[in-house]
Amino acid sequence: MTQIFDDPAEFADEALDGFVAANRQYVSRVDGGVVRSTASPQGQVALVVGGGSGHYPAFAGLVGAGLAAASACGNMFASPAAGQVYRVAKAAHNGGGVLLSYGNYAGDVLHFGQAQVRLNAEGIETRTVLVTDDIASAPADQPEKRRGIAGDLTVFKIAGAAAEEGLDLDEVERLAVLANARTRSLGVAFDGCTLPGAAEPLFHVPAGLMALGLGIHGEPGISEHPLPSASELAELLVSRLLADKPENPGTRVVPIVNGLGTVKYDELFLLFGKVEKLLSAAGLTVVEPECGELVTSLDMSGLSLTLLWLDDELERLWAAPADTPAFRKGAMARRIPRAATIGTDASEEASEQPTAAAAALGRHAVAAIAAIRDVVVEHENELGKLDAIAGDGDHGIGMRRGVEAAVAAAVQIAANDGGAPVSAILTSAGEAWSEKAGGTSGALWGTAVIAVGVALGNRESYSGRDAAAAVEAFAAAVTELGKAEIGDKTMVDALLPFRDAFTAAISGGTPLDRALAVAAAAARSAAEQTAALRPLKGRARPLAERSLGHADPGAVSFGLIVERLGRHIDAQLTGLGAKA
Ligand code: ADP
Ligand code: MG
Repeated sequence: MTQIFDDPAEFADEALDGFVAANRQYVSRVDGGVVRSTASPQGQVALVVGGGSGHYPAFAGLVGAGLAAASACGNMFASPAAGQVYRVAKAAHNGGGVLLSYGNYAGDVLHFGQAQVRLNAEGIETRTVLVTDDIASAPADQPEKRRGIAGDLTVFKIAGAAAEEGLDLDEVERLAVLANARTRSLGVAFDGCTLPGAAEPLFHVPAGLMALGLGIHGEPGISEHPLPSASELAELLVSRLLADKPENPGTRVVPIVNGLGTVKYDELFLLFGKVEKLLSAAGLTVVEPECGELVTSLDMSGLSLTLLWLDDELERLWAAPADTPAFRKGAMARRIPRAATIGTDASEEASEQPTAAAAALGRHAVAAIAAIRDVVVEHENELGKLDAIAGDGDHGIGMRRGVEAAVAAAVQIAANDGGAPVSAILTSAGEAWSEKAGGTSGALWGTAVIAVGVALGNRESYSGRDAAAAVEAFAAAVTELGKAEIGDKTMVDALLPFRDAFTAAISGGTPLDRALAVAAAAARSAAEQTAALRPLKGRARPLAERSLGHADPGAVSFGLIVERLGRHIDAQLTGLGAKA
């Protein structure tokens, strides 16, 4: 039970403010999380970690020299929003690129993934390493489906130490991947945890039983057992982990006994003693272990055992010094405070003085998004019905929510004194779109609209070539984030034919409005043709057969939108007398 709060809705934010107040020598607050308050060498890779709040010391407690450069902190047990991850990473970036690392959960993957697309589009090279240590969450032959638990610590520590050594982004990424591949964890729960303000725990474990492999937010485990003795528990955890060794395991391991919230340190130590004996008996050498609270789950009663299987590189990096609020190791040279103010003003782009051309294009962009809203609203029911055939029926309402939020955000930014550049208008619109839409299509459209904004920038003039680059940026954002290919039965099946037709027309000298009309016709017909396909991506995949004979909702909405955009721009140009 959580006792100390004013307003449960503000719990995560207020707790983070207080954490920063207690640790100013380590961290500064930025919108969406914390960054180091100490200076890091120029060019050092920035390891940005994060996830939902309620897991302290993960994630903010691990920010400091030798470990993370920043942490994006979401609400209780909820992923930070993409815009927050983006701003935190931007504040942490030191000229050496960004490595995003976090536990493998769908919401985090979507939001951090979106931020990655945006950072890359802005020229901040960004990579991702997911933590997948929980052997209870998927079989050994599907490691990519495993979720991340206390293995966050080993992966972050190795990556942070590699960055601290001055290794480049390729190397830091390689070592983080290696650390993850050689980390295995298994947890048990004796009872659930309660969110601030909630009357009941999120889940219960029946009295007298222990759940093996239960996730840190109550995700289902493998099995329930009568409460074991400490010796039996140690035996169970060690034997399961030894049955799931990585390739070329070696004989040197870092064991981590991690308390999830309410198990006392004395109990953890008692268990650790037994774990150590079992590991030694198995012929393994225990190296610099940890025993304590490292990745928690509010007041969950439970614990986990992690093994990091060392090789020479990993041992050097694990043993390297680190100095953070919650994790200290060895001796580190004292860091000087970061002098420069941390530039993460959310309205930074908005306050940029627009060129006349970028302001004019920004006004057109506001009208264009409004035209998109109109066509989405007109077809909302139809899109919902199409999505209900094999999906969950929310495509119409999701698109409407997203685009309405995008219009509102765009109108607000454009109302700045002196207008705003098209880049600022579209990045705000895209952020609002993905935040309000929910769903896969919302994340994809939001990211893509931001990418268009970044591509158009704040220039002195714009040509057809810029329009082609913007379409290219839209397509790249969707494919980079969603990883769908032609034939998977997604919006990509309409988007890529659209992009190809548009680029071909523009490079052949076709005027913008004609190029759009031609490309929109290609998108519409490609969308229709998805009826013959089986979905290979997204929520419709499990019910693939039902979807046969019906077009993909996301492809259809894309076709409708670009068709309307074509007509809208045609009307604008006619209105301006710009057409012969
Ligand atoms: P959700 O599937 O989360 O309910 P929507 O119903 O709003 O979201 O959108 C469904 C559409 O999203 C699908 O019809 C498909 O076009 C698109 N989609 C799903 N997954 C992907 C992906 N990985 N890449 C591109 N588009 C995708
Ligand atoms: Mg849906």
